[in-house]
Amino acid sequence: MNDCLFCKIAAGEIPSTKVYEDEYVYAFNDIDPKAPTHILFIPKQHIQSAAHIDGDNSFIVSKIFEAISKVAKDLGLDDGFRVVSNVGESAGQTVPHLHFHVLSGRDMTWPPG
Ligand code: 5GP
Ligand code: ZN
Repeated sequence: MNDCLFCKIAAGEIPSTKVYEDEYVYAFNDIDPKAPTHILFIPKQHIQSAAHIDGDNSFIVSKIFEAISKVAKDLGLDDGFRVVSNVGESAGQTVPHLHFHVLSGRDMTWPPG
């Protein structure tokens, strides 16, 4: 049995506000947004984190970035946006299913905290 929260969201077993979907990718609004626009892009296939990308699954990452580019255009994020993927607990990863945060709509600081 798969107890992964984001696998369940991608499968529609847990509700979410869908922003984009294709064969490989699901995107939805973050439940606790850190910016006016805060979307999570995930692979439908379970991959634990960016530390678990390999030659067999890396094509899905390109699909995710194609989706990010398309959604950013569709939503008119022309002033810019930030893409973040936390890897491991010390970097702030709380859900162990690969996800890319897309944040936009406010000024961003650098370096991130
Ligand atoms: P992380 O901390 O792993 O980088 O990011 C996990 C993100 O998932 C957080 O920004 C958190 O707000 C979001 N999140 C956690 N549980 C849910 C949920 O059930 N639904 C949605 N839409 N977002 C969630
Ligand atoms: Zn999963």
